Parts: sequence; structure tokens; C-alpha cells
Amino acid sequence: MSPVNREDPSFALRHSTAHVLAQAVREMFPGAKLAWGPHDRFENGFYYDFDLPRALTPDDFPEIEGRMLRLVREDHPFRYRAVGVDEARGLFSNQPYKLETLDELERGRDEYGEDRPSGAVISTYTQDTFEDLCLGPHLERSGEIPADGFKLLDVSGAYWRGDEKNKMLQRVHGTAWPSKEELERYLWRREEEEKRDHRRLGTELDLFSIRPEVGPGLALFHPKGTLVRVLMEDYWRERHRAGGYDFVATPHVGRSILWETSGHLKWYREGMYSPISIEEDRYYLKPMNCPFHMLIFNGRPRSYRDLPLRFAELGTVYRYEPSGTLRGLLRVRGFTQDDAHLFCRPDQMRVEIDRVLEFCLSFLAAFGFDEPEMELSVRDPSTPDKYAGSEDDWEMAETTLAASLEGHGLTCERVEGEAVFYGPKIDIGITDALGRRWQASTIQFDFNLPERFDLAYVGEDNRSHRPYMVHRALYGSIERFFALLIEHHAGALPVWLSPVQATIIPVSERNLGYADKVAGELAAAGFRAEVDRRSERMNAKIRDAQLQKVPYMLVVGNREEEAGGVSVRLRTNEDRGSTELPAFVDHLREVVEAKDGL
Ligand SMILES: [Zn+2]
Ligand SMILES: [Zn+2]
Repeated sequence: MSPVNREDPSFALRHSTAHVLAQAVREMFPGAKLAWGPHDRFENGFYYDFDLPRALTPDDFPEIEGRMLRLVREDHPFRYRAVGVDEARGLFSNQPYKLETLDELERGRDEYGEDRPSGAVISTYTQDTFEDLCLGPHLERSGEIPADGFKLLDVSGAYWRGDEKNKMLQRVHGTAWPSKEELERYLWRREEEEKRDHRRLGTELDLFSIRPEVGPGLALFHPKGTLVRVLMEDYWRERHRAGGYDFVATPHVGRSILWETSGHLKWYREGMYSPISIEEDRYYLKPMNCPFHMLIFNGRPRSYRDLPLRFAELGTVYRYEPSGTLRGLLRVRGFTQDDAHLFCRPDQMRVEIDRVLEFCLSFLAAFGFDEPEMELSVRDPSTPDKYAGSEDDWEMAETTLAASLEGHGLTCERVEGEAVFYGPKIDIGITDALGRRWQASTIQFDFNLPERFDLAYVGEDNRSHRPYMVHRALYGSIERFFALLIEHHAGALPVWLSPVQATIIPVSERNLGYADKVAGELAAAGFRAEVDRRSERMNAKIRDAQLQKVPYMLVVGNREEEAGGVSVRLRTNEDRGSTELPAFVDHLREVVEAKDGL
């Protein structure tokens, strides 16, 4: 949650609108019991919780908004006054939730259960006939709320004080903006975010599901979703093969000794699940792939001539995340990292970092993310004891990361003290179609694991040396990147990633044979095509294919059949007219190879 910023001008606006909402609801339901609305804890808006004789629905909003509008137009001043506890109890004698809040205030805790400064006054604000317990600040007058700048959004259930043992109240959400334009922009964006929500599209497009029988945060990928995933993985493998990586594969569990050696049981215990007992040994589900890769490295003597070594794996890991923080595929308990560990000599470090940085950038650019934002996390120089590795190692690693970014003309945000204890890192963030920033790739030095696993190579000097080791991921997590792609493209994935690239729609039953022939030729050319054999009307089939975000609809009737062609419609509903089949195949190949288009 963002900290309370009572200074923010939108705080006073939204907060004041919440009071006007409360007055409007009390007018409609004179017996209403009012809880409260922590206006600052709902981004871009406000809410207020009520205990009412009946359930509200959005159909009630026009009336409530009408009453709110009247109170705005009447331009009532918001008047502050400090009150004693006893006086406040009298004021709110028939408002049990307010009385409970007063008890808390008296105990020295504020409405969020946080400590209040001792001797803090209890205050109310009044507009018109409505007085409410409140710290403020407020606008001067209700008339400062723009008449066309506020709107109620939804109503939902909320337990009093967020505790499920308490009564379920009704929470009315609203938003308020300084102008109509800002309100409209916000509503558009909100609607757009809902339309793009990967959880909703995941169901509509039959991509994945998360089922209670399996457990929270554990996703089932359905055939179409798995196809997208496989295409992402294939592309990843192809690029890594070309990039000089060796693939490795490691188990999902490992003995406790492994996690003791790696230190995970010490510093990552809360992210790991309880062990499984097998033959008097304890095995842990892996939260990370790294320890396995360390063992592969030190499984045989390594020479300076073997380096650099790059081990890559699509490794599925399991991490404990509190159930309240899980969100679709963005935050899960089981996910596949596109992990790799780079091992190199000091003299190879700069080249290796340049290579991996370029790899990240071109990989993300292939998905259309070509303006990444870089963040460089370095030590807090005031607490050098906090970190593993020598001063020299840190200096060299930080300098190399910074120089590599600079060498590629990339500006970065340098954050002191953000580095984890084992090494500095670069985080690469990408921005989606709605301007939201997502964390994707990471390039992370590690001075700790090579030490713990005693990694070594024999140098040119015939002596033993410790290699430098870097963890890196491009997608980060396949599941998360998949969700990001769905939201970025609003489900209309680029052609190369679309589970079905073309739906062939015969105009009548008579054209089915030709439709099958077209599908066969597309399949032979390596594309994914389907014939819609249902007896629906043609327009219904086109609409359904568009709803399924299929990039191309190929309508085939007698005319197309005679000409050996197809009539091309796009999911955007653009009509591209008729074309001969070979010309369409060429076009499709071009679009798929370019990895963009549509
Ligand atoms: Zn207030
Ligand atoms: Zn790692």
C-alpha cells in the first residue's frame, strides 16, 4: 500500500467526495450504519463501507450520484472541529462502527490500527447536516468537487476492519478527478485494463485455468495456452543454441544438504515448502535452479580453456507466496524460470556482460519491447559488511555492469543499497501498451554461490581460481511473460504466437472440401489453420473467430474455389479482399518470420 499522502491535492478531493457519498447514502437510508472509507488506500479513488438494510446494486448509483451532485451544487463548506471523546460518543451514539472506532482512537490507534501520536485530538468534519469523524484534510467547500469529475464504480462486500469474523459490509467504490477529461481518461484506462486482464482472456480464449482442486497459484495450461508456451520455449531454445549456451536439465527436488550448502535453507527458508521425507532424508522442492547448475559445473575439473560456460534451463521452481498476493499467472507458486548461469574468468567478464546484455535487448525486442528501462542495483557503501564477496569483486562487477550499459548507450537508474547481499545486478523493465511497467530480464552477479560450492578452474598459471558467476533470465518467468503478452496485446497475440493463425470459413456446405484443401496446404507450409465446420451463418463464424483473436479469417465460396484463392478478413475486421492461395502463404510466411505484424 502506498503511504498516506494527505498533502496530495487529489487526496482532499477524493476524500471530500467520500464524505459527500456517505451523506447521500444516509439520506437514502436514514437508518444506515456508517463504517468508514480509508480513501487513500484505493488508488485513484475512494470508498466508503456501509451497513444497510438492503444490498446496493449499480442500479442504485444514478440516485446516489444524483444526490451527491445536489450536495456539490449546494456548495456546502467543510467545517473542522476538535471534539472530546465523550462529546464524540454522544454525536455517534447510534453509529456502532463509529463508536468502535472511537474506542480504538482512545486506545491510541488510528483507523488503520496504527499508533497515533499521544495526545492527538479527535476531530470531525461537517458539511451541510452531515458530521463525520475525520482527520482531514478536506476541500474548502463541496462545490470544489467538479460536478462532472466524479463517478461511482462498483459495490462489493467487505468485512468490517477486514476481519472475516466481523460483519460483511457494503463497500461503494468511486473515483474523483479535477476535470471531466481526466475522469474519462481514467475510466477508459480502467475499462481497457479489465478487457486486457489475462485471467479473463485466459478463460475466454481457453488458454489456462487455476483450479481449487490443484491449489492456488498453480496453473493448468490448456492446449492453446500450451501451444503459445511451447512456441515461446522453442524460440528461447533456438536463440540459446545460437548464443553458445549449453542446455542442462535438473530435478524438481533435492536433499537438504544441497540447500544447506547453497544457503537457501538459511536465507530463503520462508520461500520454501516443507520437506518431503524419503528414506530418512529430507528433500525440498526447488525454489531456484542455481544449486544444481553449480554441481554440474564442479562435477569435473575445469580449465581456463573451458570458460566461459553457459548453462541454460527452463526450470520449474516452487516458491511460497501468501495466498492473498497471488494474481493469475503474474504471481504464482509454481513457475518456470528461463534460467541460465554464466561462468567466466575475470578477463572475460566485460565481453560476457556485453553479450548477455545484447542478448536480453534483442530478445525483448523480438516481442516488440524495444525501449527497455534499465535499473542498476549496487551496494550501499555505508554498510560494506552486509555483502558477500570482496571489495575488489564488487568494484569490478559494478564497474563492468555500468560500463556495459554505457557502452550500449543505455541510460539507467542507479540505486544504491538495492543490491542483494551476494552481488550487483541489472533489472530490465518493459512497458506495455497501457504504459504499465513490468519487470522482465535480470542480470545478477553472485559472489556467494561459487564460494559455497567451492567452484574452481585451473588457470593458465596452473593454479586454482574461482570463476565469476552470473545468474540471468530473459523472460524471467514463462508464466508471467505469457500473462504480460496477453495483456499487452489484449489477447490478439502476434501471428507467430497465435495458437490458430487462420480460420477457414466455407460459405456453404458445398465448399467444405475446398476448405479442407486450403487447410491442408497451410499445414503443409507449417502454419496452424482450422476449418470452421459448424452449420452457423458465415457472419457468426467470422465474429467468433474474431472473438477468439484469430489473425486471419479465410472465407471460401464458389468464386474463391474456382479461382484457387481465399477471401481474407482480419481480426480487426479489415477486409483484405481476395487473393490466390500461394500469395497468401507467402504473406503469412513473411509476417511470421518478422515476428510482428497485425
Ligand atoms: Zn474526511
Ligand atoms: Zn541462479
